[in-house]
Amino acid sequence: MSASPSEAADIVSADVDPAAAPSVTVPAQAGAPESRPPVSLSPSRAADFMQCPLLYRLRVIDKLPEKPSAAATRGTVVHTVLEKLFDLPSGQRTPERAVAMVRPAWDALLAERPELAELFGEDAAGLGTWLADADKLVERYFTLEDPNRLEPARRELYVQTTLEDGLVLRGVVDRLDVAPAGDLRVVDYKTGKAPSPMFQDKPLFQMKFYALVLWRQHGRVPRRLQLVYLGSGDVITYDPDEGELLAVERKLRALWEAIDLATRTGQWLPRRSKLCGWCDHREVCPEFGGTPPVYPLPVVPAP
Ligand code: SF4
Repeated sequence: MSASPSEAADIVSADVDPAAAPSVTVPAQAGAPESRPPVSLSPSRAADFMQCPLLYRLRVIDKLPEKPSAAATRGTVVHTVLEKLFDLPSGQRTPERAVAMVRPAWDALLAERPELAELFGEDAAGLGTWLADADKLVERYFTLEDPNRLEPARRELYVQTTLEDGLVLRGVVDRLDVAPAGDLRVVDYKTGKAPSPMFQDKPLFQMKFYALVLWRQHGRVPRRLQLVYLGSGDVITYDPDEGELLAVERKLRALWEAIDLATRTGQWLPRRSKLCGWCDHREVCPEFGGTPPVYPLPVVPAP
């Protein structure tokens, strides 16, 4: 279903205040004052649980620190540049102007998160290569879209909805475009390479998650989901329908039930896979001879 232009205006003005997200108060546990039962689900955390329940626990409940990643940090910088690019008037959104934003975006991020300095230390050449790679990703964007022909309705849009059973779904959409006829297009930038069709389910699940939230928030299904892969110069599009989004909703409810059960029982099973190679928590993972921290929440026996 398409949104009328006035309905579309509602969509772009009625985003949710992240500060309004529900919170749950739990008595502080010795040594783990920050631990809380999860109260909402985002695409990233849903993906964590599907990959490995223990990984989800260590990130969401134990909140164990993770080392900064050069690739993820470069992604943050590139996303910032592509967001700010649209602050420039149409006609001035050029590759040169965009590349000139890369270094300032990195400097601003570093000021906000000084711990990122450890990524390069005194390695000026490493930093230079990393920045040059970010430049290339930004330049490649211009081979995929002409930003002078676009006026995004929203950028970095926080979306949130509460399903009938109380499950809160939330996330941040990189860009939302609204066509003159009111059709919605959800756009997500990826700084990696596009996966082969066999491995597109995961990124498309994330996009369908956003589409579901927008549909539930505003009563209409986004017309198009668009993944822009800057690493390989590919664009993947997908046009969802209500039936598919209902299937995603059922899957998320089942996922949330499993998360809720694990939260109450404290049983978070590790699931070993090739992705363990990128996991920061191997030292405390039983699959690698480690022991997880003491579970910081109250538990009830498993049924
Ligand atoms: S190392 Fe693998 S199995 Fe262990 S927590 Fe990380 S992702 Fe899960």
